Amino acid sequence: MIPHSSDTRVSADTFRPACIRCDTCDQPITTADDGWLEWLVDDDGNAYGLRIVHRASVRHSCHLYTDRSNRCGVPLDFFTDAKGIAYWLNRIDQGRVRDAVSVRRMLLRIHSRRTAMNSESPFTP
Ligand SMILES: [Zn+2]
Repeated sequence: MIPHSSDTRVSADTFRPACIRCDTCDQPITTADDGWLEWLVDDDGNAYGLRIVHRASVRHSCHLYTDRSNRCGVPLDFFTDAKGIAYWLNRIDQGRVRDAVSVRRMLLRIHSRRTAMNSESPFTP
């Protein structure tokens, strides 16, 4: 059964999972503002090596690709709404990712934990 916000038998806390953990230091990223998504782009323009890490202002040492000229990165909060999902789905449709499964997993990491990062949770009464 899929939980629904109008289901009064479901506690909001029941569906509030732990926050996202940084791929480098394994410490929690407790808000979208503290997170960063980094990835690399190959010579054909395909994204790969997606990683969710702390934003440099929180922990600079968590960024793995700082010395790579083919690195990309944006604040994690860009991916917490529809435009971020659309960005990656468009890249998948265009064949501009090496591994669509890793992109889907990244989106699930962000959005299955969104309730912990967003006070406008659909599960918040
Ligand atoms: Zn970190």
